[in-house]
Amino acid sequence: MDSKELQSAYELPLYAMRDVCLVRGKGSKVWDDQGNEYIDCATGNGVVNVGHCNEQIVKAITEQAQTLLTCAGAFYNDKRAELLAKLIEISPDSLTKAFLCNSGTESVEAALKFARLSTGRTEIVSLMRGFHGRTFGALSATFNPKYKKDFAPLVPGFSHAPLNKIEKLAEKVSNETAAVILEVIQGEGGVNLADSDYLKEVQALCQERGALLIVDEVQTGFGRTGKMFACEHYDLRPDMITLAKAIAGGVPMGAVLCSDRISVSFGKHGTTFGGNPLACAAALASISYLQSNDLPVQAAQNGTYFMDRLREIDSPKIREVRGLGLMVAVELKEKATPYLKALMDKGILALPAGPTVLRFLPPLTISKGELDSVVVALGQVLS
Ligand SMILES: *Cc1c(COP(=O)(O)O)cnc(C)c1O
Repeated sequence: MDSKELQSAYELPLYAMRDVCLVRGKGSKVWDDQGNEYIDCATGNGVVNVGHCNEQIVKAITEQAQTLLTCAGAFYNDKRAELLAKLIEISPDSLTKAFLCNSGTESVEAALKFARLSTGRTEIVSLMRGFHGRTFGALSATFNPKYKKDFAPLVPGFSHAPLNKIEKLAEKVSNETAAVILEVIQGEGGVNLADSDYLKEVQALCQERGALLIVDEVQTGFGRTGKMFACEHYDLRPDMITLAKAIAGGVPMGAVLCSDRISVSFGKHGTTFGGNPLACAAALASISYLQSNDLPVQAAQNGTYFMDRLREIDSPKIREVRGLGLMVAVELKEKATPYLKALMDKGILALPAGPTVLRFLPPLTISKGELDSVVVALGQVLS
């Protein structure tokens, strides 16, 4: 049995599998077990902002693995302390404390609990086409009915409003609302950008009605959109930011950054692995690499370049090219899946985002030459 057969034999069939077994990565490239090379614009769903097997991260992980791998939350730890301080240093001014966990859905789960705890209110409003994860609380905030329908009853108190329609949101947010949770650019839901005015109005509405504002930056965080955090484009002052995906350069980790309005006390929440020294060391190395190489700025510049070049593709199959920084979508007038497959055959890995959208989340270290190769391949498969 080869690896594909072995895995299929024993893994629950939860994913629409692509017929390739990836075994190695370096920078913007990954290789399969047949030695085929790919430019990776999928990056484990937007995880590898600093490039695959980034040397600084490999070094930090190796050193930490030889020093201390695990440390319960009730003990202090040097790497954890350093990372907490770093996260608060780089985040918007409103945020002063953090909670460390292990994934995106866990960060959302924690944020929802903190919102109920801090406000004494129960209701949560999120947005249509938003994605916040797959555990019960996060799934209740997620919109896609396909993900939810087999798991009822979900958590009570959740409702959804359409993106960029402030009057619709105002109908949902009341003095029972603990929080509004949203992505400033919806990732899984289709790379849908929130309008700048809308976001300011959401913030004002939350303030007026005493609801907290949670910005889910699990996908947009850590330079992806051309700023360290996407909410910086809009000058938002969220009460919480949820983080995961790229936070630790490929090592599983999540975090919630919190304002002074979040008040919790001990015993109310916790996690065994949250803030483990290995993940903290990886996150510190990743943030340091992002900063010292100005990767958010590079993402802004190369993202503009990439989108300009994509817009030059002359194909009637393209409805729209959109995005921010290196979070880029090509919306087609037809189903995206056959084109993802065709791109893969040409050595380009990309992601879907809803049925008709091709999504590109390359490492922020990707070169213009590699982006050119992506554009050429896409032009060929769409011709
Ligand atoms: C991926 C994602 C999540 C869920 O993260 P997991 O680590 O897969 O649980 C939550 N919110 C957003 C915006 C995401 O993109």
